[in-house]
Amino acid sequence: MNVLVINAGSSSLKYQLINVEHHQVLAKGICERVGAADAFHKHGIDENEIVIDVPMNNHTEAVRLALQSILEGPNKAIDSLDEIDAIGHRVVQGGKYFDRSVLIDDEVIARIEELKELAPLHNEAALMGIRACQALMPDKPMVAVFDTSYFQTLQPKAYMYPLPYELYEKYAIRKYGAHGTSHRYIAERAAAFLDEPIDELKLITCHLGNGCSVSAIDHGVAIDTSMGLTPLDGLMMGTRSGSIDPAIVTFVMEHENLSPQEMNNLLNKKSGLLGISGVSNDLRSVRIASEEGNERAMLAYHMYSNSVKKYIGQYIAVMGGVDAVVLTAGVGENDQKMRRMIFSGMQPLGIVLDEARNREHGFERDIATNSSLVRIIIIPTNEEYMIARDTFDIVHG
Ligand code: ADP
Repeated sequence: MNVLVINAGSSSLKYQLINVEHHQVLAKGICERVGAADAFHKHGIDENEIVIDVPMNNHTEAVRLALQSILEGPNKAIDSLDEIDAIGHRVVQGGKYFDRSVLIDDEVIARIEELKELAPLHNEAALMGIRACQALMPDKPMVAVFDTSYFQTLQPKAYMYPLPYELYEKYAIRKYGAHGTSHRYIAERAAAFLDEPIDELKLITCHLGNGCSVSAIDHGVAIDTSMGLTPLDGLMMGTRSGSIDPAIVTFVMEHENLSPQEMNNLLNKKSGLLGISGVSNDLRSVRIASEEGNERAMLAYHMYSNSVKKYIGQYIAVMGGVDAVVLTAGVGENDQKMRRMIFSGMQPLGIVLDEARNREHGFERDIATNSSLVRIIIIPTNEEYMIARDTFDIVHG
């Protein structure tokens, strides 16, 4: 079964055509700066990628271009649209309504629309992707896969904020989490890698990319996660602050005369690694600058590792131990130095990184010493495959 996976952002549209049974990516690409004069479209796998500057006014035109590149030209993957069996859409916010992926119908669309208030840019983008596919391929079954649904197993003690209860009743303000598809994938893969049933394991999964989150997966059930009502909460990230003293928000708004929107922008786009280092939101650039003696970059690098360390400690306490810490995404998969800093000094907790294994490259791997009581596992994430697989499962009933 071939599934077209669509991940629509407010000004971008990523896609992959995946054959689920063979676990094979047949085509992939991204349309960027959709709606802007300098829009472009990249299509192709790895070194075969081609970049085309091409105008696209909206997401429907972006999907049309994607389909054109899948069906024609140097990187064509299939001969006709009939070879696409179903479409899977990534949707950021599923609120309390969706604890799993679902077949998209009018009611589901209405719910995603209703949840826009909790994730204004993200859910609107997903709706644009869904409507574009409906317009161009009205007969294909479509499935929505939510970033939040994996965390619907959290208990109220984990998802409630200590605010007046009425705010929860009035606005549904609570922790929803994000990156759920990635945490679900790496938790499953880690259990398979360890050759143990997931319901016998205590896992801490760390998605460390531009966006960062950590989750506690207790015997196969997500019991806590660092992202909150929105993906701003928790760890320090590329440009997002993560958790800070909430009093800072009103202090800065008052003293800098900022509107709510400007404050939101400061916390989401100007903070994190970028805000502290003044160099970049990209951890590679921050590391290079810190190695060249830039003190703010060094501080940013240390704050980042400390932020991950603290969440690992919290979740060990919450679960009463841990069998494996699982790392994924750009930083988790690649940055040896960051991994060394995160796990430094954790020997008393039974977590011992093997320096030589940490330096090796590879696919799924264990980088703890043989005698470490806790495994440290690297699993490259694959959210697109997870979306394709959910789509396959639901369409097949
Ligand atoms: P996104 O959340 O945008 O999907 P990624 O998973 O691609 O993010 O992660 C981006 C982050 O990963 C950046 O901070 C980048 O510096 C870091 N990164 C990517 N490759 C490497 C590498 N080889 N070494 C160190 N850091 C890396």
